[in-house]
Amino acid sequence: MTKYIFVTGGVTSSLGKGIIAASLAKLLQSRGLKVTIQKFDPYINVDPGTLNPYEHGECFVTEDGAETDLDLGHYERFLNIFTSQANNVTTGRIYQTVINQEREGAYLGKTVQVIPHITDEIKRRMLLIGSTGKYDIVITEIGGTVGDIESLPFVEAVRQLQWEMEEEDCLVVHLTLIPYLKAAKELKTKPTQHSVKLMSENGVHPDIIVCRTERSLNMELRKKIALFCNVKTEAVIEAMDANSIYEVPLKMLQEGLDVIVLKKLHINGYSAPELGKWKEFLDKLKYPSAKVTIGLIGKYIELQDAYKSILESFVHAGAMNECKVQIVNVHSEFITDENVAEKLGNLDGLLVAPGFGKRGVEGKIVAVKYAREKKLPFFGICLGMQMAAIEFARNVLNLKDAHSTEMDENTSHPVIDLMEDQKAITTKGGTMRLGSYPCELKPGTMANAIYGQSLISERHRHRWEFNNAYLEQFEQAGMIASGKNPATGLVEIIELQNHPFFIGVQYHPELKSTVENPQPIFVSFIKAAREFSEKKALEKNPLLQNEMI
Ligand code: GLN
Repeated sequence: MTKYIFVTGGVTSSLGKGIIAASLAKLLQSRGLKVTIQKFDPYINVDPGTLNPYEHGECFVTEDGAETDLDLGHYERFLNIFTSQANNVTTGRIYQTVINQEREGAYLGKTVQVIPHITDEIKRRMLLIGSTGKYDIVITEIGGTVGDIESLPFVEAVRQLQWEMEEEDCLVVHLTLIPYLKAAKELKTKPTQHSVKLMSENGVHPDIIVCRTERSLNMELRKKIALFCNVKTEAVIEAMDANSIYEVPLKMLQEGLDVIVLKKLHINGYSAPELGKWKEFLDKLKYPSAKVTIGLIGKYIELQDAYKSILESFVHAGAMNECKVQIVNVHSEFITDENVAEKLGNLDGLLVAPGFGKRGVEGKIVAVKYAREKKLPFFGICLGMQMAAIEFARNVLNLKDAHSTEMDENTSHPVIDLMEDQKAITTKGGTMRLGSYPCELKPGTMANAIYGQSLISERHRHRWEFNNAYLEQFEQAGMIASGKNPATGLVEIIELQNHPFFIGVQYHPELKSTVENPQPIFVSFIKAAREFSEKKALEKNPLLQNEMI
């Protein structure tokens, strides 16, 4: 029998509902329960695939090719499980289903309304993953903030489910903010009281209140929140700001969040939390023995969420190497031949990020050239790989106007070209090459050594590809295709010979890095960056040789 936990948010957005939901899931999983998480988003886009990264951060892609909210990335990284299309539902998708059914005549002449038709569809989807019987607990995060007009149908669906289910099969966790007023030197509970009152007006009563706060809550304050919000004092959970999101599960463990959940859901016989690996990872993260500086070359750098999975992959790979990874964001639009040495001169590694469209690509190409020539460790992802191919074509193969037809339709050397099956596509949503595809690695290559196997599977999100008409020329000049799709021959990985670390991948390896399974290319890239930085230090000061030995 699957039990359901709903996580709502009050007072303000950006409180970290996704991290709290993922941390709770991690704790329950660590006690031997089978747990998954899903997210319901109130916006009207059918999925976040068509959203600009500035709007909503990165678009996370699942194994089955769903374009989803970035919180699903946190769920996968924390739980080390795969999510799917069913784990992310938007208002747009709900309405699309209901309207399609209406057009088919499924409502038999009835007036189609928010209640019951929209709420019924929300409830059906909320129970869908649980109905497979594969999970003991399904956690559902409701996007947005309670009180928003667009969240109302979701809150109503939760109310109905709570009413339909046995009390011990369903509970609501409400995440709220306890602001600290400097002038008054006081933590304030009033916004939380209002937020809980608002929920009660909608018929949903939270069972547990998780309080985001900069300062510790004393017992008096906890009692006050408990009294006004009508929960037991033990159900008031403090969520203090943490240095790393990966500390949050342990903080929640300390606060007893999992225990109160288990008690309320009448789950007995669970085991003690098994968090050995997690703690080991945290120790390495907290006490690194070295530091590397990596340049992240992108055009959405003003918004860190745009590169969420890449940044988290660096955290995992850094811990694996016991190395602090300091990220320097470099805006690709402003890199030129003249300033590249100044901008990239202090780095130990360069990552050229994914992206779409023309803006900033010339700066990316200049950055790749710098890394290739200076033997700086280089890692290109998706558009970053395509830029590495273009740079090589222009500056090594001497194909001066080489380009991707995404940026220049009339280039005489389309080294990156639109895939044949993409040419007739005119609609945008969900039409890229999406999700996981196999990739065969060439024996004896760096890619093969990094993965330690010959057949891998990675996730994709792109329309353009390396143009195989140029492959022979590339390989003869030292840029080899070390990974290819076995069925289609599409180039998935390029790597440069005679360079300590130069690799570009057409897929998105960052989407599969988790705390327990850091992504191998990221791990090797940080190792190469570490070696680069040690070599640099040695060149500057040969006396260090003794210390390093
Ligand atoms: N714009 C490129 C393409 O569609 C790269 C996409 C990406 O970096 N995700 O092929």
